[in-house]
Amino acid sequence: MELMTSGEFARASGLSRKALRLYDELGLLTPAQVDPASQYRFYAPAQLEQARLVAWLRRLGMPLATIRTVSTMPPDQAAGALAAYWERIEAETAARRELATFLIGYLSGKGTGMPENPTTLTVRYAVQSDIGLQRADNEDAAYAGARLLAVADGMGGHAAGEVASAAVIDALRPLDTEVPEGELLNALDHAVRRANANLRDQVQANPALSGMGTTLTALLWSGSQLALVHIGDSRAYLVRDGELFQITHDHTVVQSLLDDGKITPAEVASHPQAMLLLRALSGETAFEPDLQLRQARPGDRYLLCSDGLHRVADAAAIARVLRTVADPDEAARDLVALAMEAGAPDNITCIVADVSTARERRAGGISVRG
Ligand code: MN
Repeated sequence: MELMTSGEFARASGLSRKALRLYDELGLLTPAQVDPASQYRFYAPAQLEQARLVAWLRRLGMPLATIRTVSTMPPDQAAGALAAYWERIEAETAARRELATFLIGYLSGKGTGMPENPTTLTVRYAVQSDIGLQRADNEDAAYAGARLLAVADGMGGHAAGEVASAAVIDALRPLDTEVPEGELLNALDHAVRRANANLRDQVQANPALSGMGTTLTALLWSGSQLALVHIGDSRAYLVRDGELFQITHDHTVVQSLLDDGKITPAEVASHPQAMLLLRALSGETAFEPDLQLRQARPGDRYLLCSDGLHRVADAAAIARVLRTVADPDEAARDLVALAMEAGAPDNITCIVADVSTARERRAGGISVRG
């Protein structure tokens, strides 16, 4: 059989000699013969077909190791391998597109017009916030939207608490968009870090704000998955199948004393350190929010509230309202009324959210600040 020089082979295959040298080095197309003295490469005419196929597969972006295998397969087998490869690429591209769309919306703060995921559960929500009966300011802030619910309870003198809670809610709000399911916890974690850094910047710019901080309890939906971030003593509750569950753990001195069996539940309210938080967002570099991933179900009802509700209304009273008042707006108002009846010593903020498969969707979220 007549061998071709690399120049002849390059012309016949439409590939450059440089490309042929590269294919040889990468083990994609080994010359039929290499002159031991001159190192010239010689190719068999039968290799033209493989050379063309290698060039095509490289243009497709196929990894070298896969090209090495596929380019030597019989055509029908190569076709099968190619189909499987391309299916994987399209799935990866779809996932990356989803991530890119979310990131563009989140970073620009403009949200995205992603088509609705058919498995997405709908959330019907209501938010109520009240200054209460004894405070001069409302330092709570909240946000309720189709994908994000958040309550923040600010602290710090001279209205600094209001600044902190509002800043943290602002930093979270861009998450009210389609977050890919696999990114829920990452997205919440990123937003909370961004919120914390924002507090640090504000304190540095204005030392009068030093000492300010805020709690944060937030839920973020994607499909039927739910991510929860929590720091401080605001709470999230779930009513499922008629039962009330508290799904957050207070980061307070009394809660840790309770956990350690050092005080009884009856001693909590009168404890001198009842209000003291162990953890909050305050711009400190080291902070530890609780993050959890949960499965939402149609029929679930969630309550997010600041301590202005749960310190004065007992769990049984809260459960009664959540179980018996079907309309979320009305339920949120009734919960605020519970705190008012108890003297409302603190600001009260409640978000009530019902999960369903109904196609109803509100246009924009609701922001509340003190
Ligand atoms: Mn409070």
